[in-house]
Amino acid sequence: MNRETRHKNGDIKKYRIKKILEEIKNKRGRGTELISLYIPPKKRISDVINYLRQEYATAENIKSDTTRKHVKDAITKVIERLKHYQTAPENGLVVFCGAIPVSGPGTEKMEIYVLEPPEPININLYRCDDHFHTQYIEDTLKEKELYGLVSIDTNEAAIGILEGNRLEIFGKYTSGIPGKHRAGGQSARRFERLREMAVHQYYDRVARHLNQEFLRDDIFYRLNGIIIGGPGFTKNEFLEEADIDYRLKKRVIAVIDTNYAGEDGLRELIEKAKDIMSDIRFIREKKFIDEFLSRLSRRHNMVIYGLKEVINNIYSGAYEALLILEDIGMNYLLFRCPKCGESKEFILDQKDALKLEYRPPKCGNCNVEMSLIIKKDIIEHIATLSDEYNFDVILISSNTEHGKIFKQFGGIAALLRYPISY
Ligand SMILES: [Zn+2]
Repeated sequence: MNRETRHKNGDIKKYRIKKILEEIKNKRGRGTELISLYIPPKKRISDVINYLRQEYATAENIKSDTTRKHVKDAITKVIERLKHYQTAPENGLVVFCGAIPVSGPGTEKMEIYVLEPPEPININLYRCDDHFHTQYIEDTLKEKELYGLVSIDTNEAAIGILEGNRLEIFGKYTSGIPGKHRAGGQSARRFERLREMAVHQYYDRVARHLNQEFLRDDIFYRLNGIIIGGPGFTKNEFLEEADIDYRLKKRVIAVIDTNYAGEDGLRELIEKAKDIMSDIRFIREKKFIDEFLSRLSRRHNMVIYGLKEVINNIYSGAYEALLILEDIGMNYLLFRCPKCGESKEFILDQKDALKLEYRPPKCGNCNVEMSLIIKKDIIEHIATLSDEYNFDVILISSNTEHGKIFKQFGGIAALLRYPISY
């Protein structure tokens, strides 16, 4: 399979998984009986099956007849499906299985989903809950920052992309250009002219591939920028004289000196370009903080800030973007009354969250202890809601000048599409 088809299939694969997750993340079991199983890459399936057999034995202790039956049926079904594998695939394996009510109690139907993540997922997890734990595989579907890279000198070149932390090399080229010293008998001018021609053919060959690869829709529209590196002056000459598409030329954000060219050069380039890439992230962050500050002074009704304020108004649907400090360190907790089903939400720091876990709140109606249904990082909670209510989440680094300013406003704010009326 060539790389292009692999890329396209990768997109379709992601799209399919997204669709399936959308469908199953809101499914609820009758009780704590839905199984989520994450198996890391290459893990021996016989080990997983042995583990599941233990869980099956433990399930004997479940009090409710229906729940016990559902859990045992689900485990059996998962084991059946896993028997097709010897080891987990190269990206790992994720299984969701459980009895889902079709209408009322007694109408449950066993459903199973076996997913191969689009990227390696190093999580070893078995959960039995009233919902499926889809968040970890959802994380692998998120779009990551993308940079185009070129490393070139007169002998060799390589082009590739950096996506998140993953380098993918698109092509490696050697120039075949003779050295600067001519063989005896050749006239100096003729030698120079031939060498010059060979250099330009080499530049154009690399540029042609560069255009082909970087102008593809799945790359071009996501490019944060192109960075060119290599020893000496060749890279600058390449940029000026090679037949690089004007749209790509405009996206070149840096030209950097490296000791090596080709594949080694790409790796060196990533190291040296790290500052530039994080600068780009900071510039984007700062743009949002500037917008926040400007709205505060001039369009006060188009912005809100502070934890309580921002969290409570998410459901208004008026958010354009939500800005939050990446290390805000808050948790979202949801408790539910086992008797009447009444639920209560809390947003707390680590310490208070733990306290509440040990001493759960009581239901106002029934005066019984409520049970903890969900506990997750606040940013994760917000990310889930951002899909539903269609706003961007902008993570702000806290160790920057703009981050420190933002901290004084509680480290969380929302830019609004229209004023919220109370
Ligand atoms: Zn209650």
